[in-house]
Amino acid sequence: MVQTTDSVTRLVDEFAKLPGIGRKSAERLAYHILRVHESEALALADSIRTVKQNVRYCSQCFNLAESELCTVCQDTRRDQTLLCIVEQPRDLMALEQSGMFPGLYHVLLGRIAPLEGIGPDQLTIDALVDRVRAGKFREIIMATNPTTEGDGTALHISNLLAELPVTLTRLARGITSGSVLEFTNKEILADALSGRQKL
Ligand SMILES: [Zn+2]
Repeated sequence: MVQTTDSVTRLVDEFAKLPGIGRKSAERLAYHILRVHESEALALADSIRTVKQNVRYCSQCFNLAESELCTVCQDTRRDQTLLCIVEQPRDLMALEQSGMFPGLYHVLLGRIAPLEGIGPDQLTIDALVDRVRAGKFREIIMATNPTTEGDGTALHISNLLAELPVTLTRLARGITSGSVLEFTNKEILADALSGRQKL
């Protein structure tokens, strides 16, 4: 971008901060916004504002929510005795799309990653232990990603829960080691759920 206005430069700078967007792509997006109808561009701006103002974490499971509880926790038809532990809300979404899991979730909001300085305290593990201690679950399914850090996180949690009267299971290894839940297709996720194994 050789010559431009301050406003356009600012827009390019903002786009360039997004993950996976380099300077060239940021410029392309900015020019796209300049070209489209004002209402379309403002709809984008407004959807960003709405998400930031309305979306928060569910007070029970830490999924994304627009009220105190997320839609999964609000649904009383779900099996309240099954709990599936995932790293991120997008992993929960992937499992929901498989349509195979009838229970509740707990979202850790990350994984233990010592090299990045992320310890158990920065995740929602305390809240998880409290939920399990309350004693309503009969089975806890570890569905952290099959990566070194995901496995380490699952191990840490299973040690914490080992004394409690629940069955701990892990998704079957249909998922290729290292692949991330959110990118795994529905059928493989469904197989991994139905073939889960005791820890
Ligand atoms: Zn929830």
